Amino acid sequence: MDYEIVIGLEIHVELSTKSKMFCGCTTEFGGDINTHCCPVCTSMPGTLPVMNKKAVEYAAKAGLAMNCSIANYSKMDRKNYFYPDLPKAYQISQFDLPICKRGYVDIETEGISKRIGITRIHMEEDAGKLLHDQWGKGTLVDYNRCGVPLIEIVSEPDMRSPQEAKDFAEKVRSILQYVGVSDCKMQEGSLRADVNLSVRPTGSSVLGTRTEMKNLNSFRSILRAAESEAKRQIDLIESGGIVVQETRRWDDDAGKSYSMRSKEEAHDYRYFPEPDLVPIELSDSIIEEYKKSLPEMPWDRFRRYTEELGIPGYDASLITVSVKTADFFDRAVESGADPKTASNWIMGDLMKLMKEIDTEEIPFDGSGLSELIALIEKGIISNNIGKTVFEEMFRTGKAAGDIVREKGLEIVSDESALEEIVEKVIDENPKSVADFLAGKEKAVGFIMGQVMKETKGKANPQMINGIIRKKLEALKNM
Ligand code: ADP
Ligand code: MG
Ligand code: ZN
Repeated sequence: MDYEIVIGLEIHVELSTKSKMFCGCTTEFGGDINTHCCPVCTSMPGTLPVMNKKAVEYAAKAGLAMNCSIANYSKMDRKNYFYPDLPKAYQISQFDLPICKRGYVDIETEGISKRIGITRIHMEEDAGKLLHDQWGKGTLVDYNRCGVPLIEIVSEPDMRSPQEAKDFAEKVRSILQYVGVSDCKMQEGSLRADVNLSVRPTGSSVLGTRTEMKNLNSFRSILRAAESEAKRQIDLIESGGIVVQETRRWDDDAGKSYSMRSKEEAHDYRYFPEPDLVPIELSDSIIEEYKKSLPEMPWDRFRRYTEELGIPGYDASLITVSVKTADFFDRAVESGADPKTASNWIMGDLMKLMKEIDTEEIPFDGSGLSELIALIEKGIISNNIGKTVFEEMFRTGKAAGDIVREKGLEIVSDESALEEIVEKVIDENPKSVADFLAGKEKAVGFIMGQVMKETKGKANPQMINGIIRKKLEALKNM
C-alpha cells in the first residue's frame, strides 16, 4: 500500500524584547546561572505579573506578517502543570482566545509553491532550564530563561513531506527575522519546533493517529525526525500494529525517537483565565499602525529586485531568504554597485564563506562590497586578488582599501617597474627566448607566468603582455 505523510508543526519562538514578559529582568541569553531573575519570574508569593507591551506588539506583528487576523480582544490563561523548571507550577499562556488566528505562509519546495495554513499564534512565557548531572549528582535548575516571552505558532496539518516541514520552519524563521521580532537562533533555543506527524493510505481523507516529537532545535533534526517517524509508523502499520497518540523524544545522535508519555489532553492542564492580568485589547487603529510599520518583506523585496533592479529571479530568491543578505545587497546597490555584479558576489563568495564558517553574521555592510567592486573596475586590483581581499574582509572585518594598501596588492601598472621585471625574467630564461625566436608562441605564455609570479599576480596583464612582446621582438631584430 502507498502512504501519505501528514505533518503539522508547533513552533516556539522567543521574542527579542529587552525585558521579560511580566517583570523587568533581562532576556539576554546566557549569563551566570540564576542571575537574570527576580521575585516575579521565580514566582515568590505575593508577586504580581505586569504585561510587557512590546511582547504584545511583537506577537501581533508576527501574526500580521503571517497573514493572520489579530484579535481586538484576547486574554491570558493559566496552564497548570508541575515541573521543576516552572516555579509557579503553572505557565501563563493563552487558551481559547489567542492573539492571532487563521493565517498562512507560502513555501516553495522543489520549485513548487504551496500555502500552509496557520491555525493560531498565541503568547506564553518560557520556562527555566534543567541542567542534568552538572556535578554528577542530580539535577540543577537555572531560572534565567523563566518568563522570557514566547509565541507559539501552530500550523494546520498541511505539510505532506518532511522536506515541506523543514521548508515551512525555515520560512517562518526568515519571516520573523525580517519583522525583527526574534533573532531565531536555534542553537540558543530561541526557535524550537514540535513535529506532529501521522500517515494514512494515499487517497484517504481522514487523518491518521499522530505522534508529537518535541523541541527539535535544528532544521536538520526536523527533517530527520520526520523521516524517521514516518518510516516507523508505516513499518508499524505494515506489520499489523497500530500507532498510538503519544509524545516522543527525538535523539539526534542516535537518529531515533523514543516514547516519552501518552498524549496529554487540554483538560489535564485545568486551564482558566489568568486572574492577575487584565485582558488585552487592541483597537483596529493600533493593529493598522502595526501593519503599516512592518518592514519590506521577502516577497516585496523579491519583486523590487527582479522588476526594478533587474536581477534574475533565481538570484533574488536566494538573496531574500535571509534578511541579512538582503540588507547587504541593498546597501551594496545603494552605495553604487551594479546589482547583478553585487548579486554574483553574494551568491558566490559571500554565501560560500558564510557556509564554510557556519555563520549568519556578515562583519561589514554592503558598502564594503561596493568599494571592493569599484577597486576591481578601476583596475586597481585584479578580479582574482579581489576574491582574496573579500575573504580577508569577511574574516577580519577590515575595509577593502585598507587590505589592498596594507598588503600591497595593487596591480602594478608602473611601466618602468614592469619593464625591469620583464628584462630580469628574459635574462633568466634563455631557453624560452630561444624557443620564441624559433617560432614557438607558447614561450610568451611561460614568460608571462614567470612575471606574474615575480609580481605575486599583481601586474596588469595587458601591460606585461605588451612589454614582453616588445622586448622579444627587439631580440628578433638583433
Ligand atoms: P496540541 O496542543 O494538543 O498538541 P493541536 O490540536 O493544537 O494540539 O495540534 C497540534 C498540531 O498537530 C497542529 O500543528 C496540527 O496541525 C497537528 N495535527 C493535528 N492532527 C494531526 C494529524 N492527525 N496528523 C498530523 N498532524 C496533526
Ligand atoms: Mg502540541
Ligand atoms: Zn524577573
